[in-house]
Amino acid sequence: MKQKLIDVFNKYKWSPTETWLTCDIISEKDFDGIAEDLVKLFAIPVVSGSYSIEDELKDKINKSLIDEKLEPIKCECGSTNFNDQTRDMLNYEVVEKDRYCDKCGKLVGYWSYGSWLP
Ligand SMILES: [Zn+2]
Repeated sequence: MKQKLIDVFNKYKWSPTETWLTCDIISEKDFDGIAEDLVKLFAIPVVSGSYSIEDELKDKINKSLIDEKLEPIKCECGSTNFNDQTRDMLNYEVVEKDRYCDKCGKLVGYWSYGSWLP
């Protein structure tokens, strides 16, 4: 199992800024059987039916990870230093950006046209 993970890792040249779930270059065949391990390995949040996004957001607000406007204010690793990376610009203004934790590199938030998205 570990070897398969490493193979897939090498094959797709994993980048921490890429999200597995949206990464369409990964074929289902390669992904099959290792999805669970990938989730564990990279701490990909799993959306389950019993745990709604609303609950998750409340939980994050309670833990002071995000504020009421959903802006990330603290990473799960405890760091409050972030690094914003522009995703898209319009007329020289940033319209979309990703926020990464400076310490652990985790993607903590996504901002688009004035709002933080859950
Ligand atoms: Zn962090």
